[in-house]
Amino acid sequence: MSPRTLDPRTMGELEQFLREELVRLQDSLRAIAQENRTAEKATLTDVTAHAAETLNSEIQVALVDRRAQQVAQIREALHRLSGSQYGFCQECDEFIGVPRLRALPFAQRCRDCQGRAEQRARRDAVPASPQIPRDTIADAA
Ligand SMILES: [Zn+2]
Repeated sequence: MSPRTLDPRTMGELEQFLREELVRLQDSLRAIAQENRTAEKATLTDVTAHAAETLNSEIQVALVDRRAQQVAQIREALHRLSGSQYGFCQECDEFIGVPRLRALPFAQRCRDCQGRAEQRARRDAVPASPQIPRDTIADAA
C-alpha cells in the first residue's frame, strides 16, 4: 500500500523543485519583457518585417500566457505546501501519490479527476451547434 501522506524529505525536495521552477519562469518572463521593450524602439521599414514582428508577438503572447499560468500554479502549490492541503486532490480529497507529485509537483488533482476535468474541458471546447458540411450550405443557396 502506498503512503497516504508525504514524508518531510520528499516534501522538501518538491518544495525546492517548485522554487527553482518559479525563479526560472520569472527570469524567462523578465527576459521576454526586456526583449519587447527593445523591439518597440526598432523602426519597421517594410511589411515583411512588420508581419514577422506581429507573428513573433503572437507567439510571445501565448508563451507569456502559459508562463504566467505556470507561475500561478507554482505559487498555488507553494501556498498549499505551507499548509496541509498539498498532495491531496482538490476534487475527491484523495492523496495524489508521490510518483505523480514528483512528475507534476503542482498537480491539483489525482489522475482520475484530472482525466475527468480534461474531458470536461474538451467537451466545453466543442461548439454547441453541430458542424454543417460546406456543400450542404452551397446546395441550399
Ligand atoms: Zn481526485
